[in-house]
Amino acid sequence: MPHQCNRTGCQEEAKWAPKLNVPMFNTIGQPTQDITGIFGLKLCDEHIEEIKPEEFTNLKEVVLQLIGSSTADTPDLESVYFSKVSLDSNEYELFINPPKIASEPFRPKNMATPSAPFPRLLPLRNLN
Ligand SMILES: [Zn+2]
Repeated sequence: MPHQCNRTGCQEEAKWAPKLNVPMFNTIGQPTQDITGIFGLKLCDEHIEEIKPEEFTNLKEVVLQLIGSSTADTPDLESVYFSKVSLDSNEYELFINPPKIASEPFRPKNMATPSAPFPRLLPLRNLN
């Protein structure tokens, strides 16, 4: 079933979900692996390229929620960026339908818990 782009006023078919990437630094200031989280937005070819972390007025909250208490590393909030995940990909499927039992071995360690109603992406500043 095709999805319509979530951007207000856009009639195009959505093919992508944004994935937030948060660069992390350890306690001695060395870069470690990015923490990532897929957002429950569906966007078309054009709008997936336009989405920017600055659009989200609650970006810092979202990032802190994404990181949780699982690491002592520090996020670089100035360098947060989006990449994209195909709505047809296994990665997105895992986000929508996380394994119900013994899920830990199947989930990348640096991903947010996909079953949570996270992240709340509102409010967007520029909906048009
Ligand atoms: Zn669109």
